[in-house]
Amino acid sequence: MHVYTHAACLAHDTGPAHAERPQRLEAVTQALREQLPTLQWRDAPNASIDALARAHAPSLLRTVLETAPRERIMLDPDTVLSPDSAEAALRAAGAAIAAVDAVLGGQTTRAFCAVRPPGHHATADTAMGFCLFNNVAVAALHALDVHGLQRVAIADFDVHHGNGTQAIFERDPRVLFASSHQMPLYPDTGHASERGVGNILNAPLAPGSGSEAFRSAWTDRLLPALEAFAPQLLLVSAGFDAHRRDPLAQLQLEADDYAWLTRELAAIADRHAGGRVVSLLEGGYDLEALRECSVAHVRGLVVQA
Ligand SMILES: [Zn+2]
Repeated sequence: MHVYTHAACLAHDTGPAHAERPQRLEAVTQALREQLPTLQWRDAPNASIDALARAHAPSLLRTVLETAPRERIMLDPDTVLSPDSAEAALRAAGAAIAAVDAVLGGQTTRAFCAVRPPGHHATADTAMGFCLFNNVAVAALHALDVHGLQRVAIADFDVHHGNGTQAIFERDPRVLFASSHQMPLYPDTGHASERGVGNILNAPLAPGSGSEAFRSAWTDRLLPALEAFAPQLLLVSAGFDAHRRDPLAQLQLEADDYAWLTRELAAIADRHAGGRVVSLLEGGYDLEALRECSVAHVRGLVVQA
């Protein structure tokens, strides 16, 4: 199993008091290196402009890549652009593309992208919610438009709704987007009534919900939809901020819930997608929970590879 990361992802400098900080990624990569020694580590390349432009408007590419601030600037109240953010964003999206190339090229069946900034809030033309480029959307469009796939599924278990991913694909039936998330919570989208062209499936969970509600949402609604869609590639927006220790939300998951869902998702990929899964780190803001949950998640992908 491949893991893609790059030192440039640590240089995206969000400032001293920001939840989305470099220590998050250090915690994840250190835990994976210590606890899963058989992983094959790869340096993430830069995404090409063409690859980014499949998901994003020229105006957003200019904002992220050409602003080149000499000190941190705020793109919105949550989202920072620092002098080194452009390369971090290029490497994060580039990891996703390289991972898709690796699994579709038969070099591995499973890949994890240990990257930041995260991506699932970024829309076609707007960076928001700590996200600059929508890494998972860039990966999906690369798989569809370059590799010629016809059905790509995105499972998003970050505690926040992946509004950007949904917005990019809500009129594209080649992609099924299935998300569980806390509601109410930022960014206040993700109602069950938001269905796209029948390709969007949202399972909002009330604050305080734990393992039982989470597993029911996936078992009863999201996993059957993924199964029926029969994806040729499964992408995962893997945020670990629904863990009970997370400071930004109020769900009550344990690491074992991530292990469980990972096994379920991997089984669907095994049945329909030749086992091919590319998972991307999204949120997760408690370092201890990040260590535990990322290991539980990646271990769940490795075991069945
Ligand atoms: Zn999140």
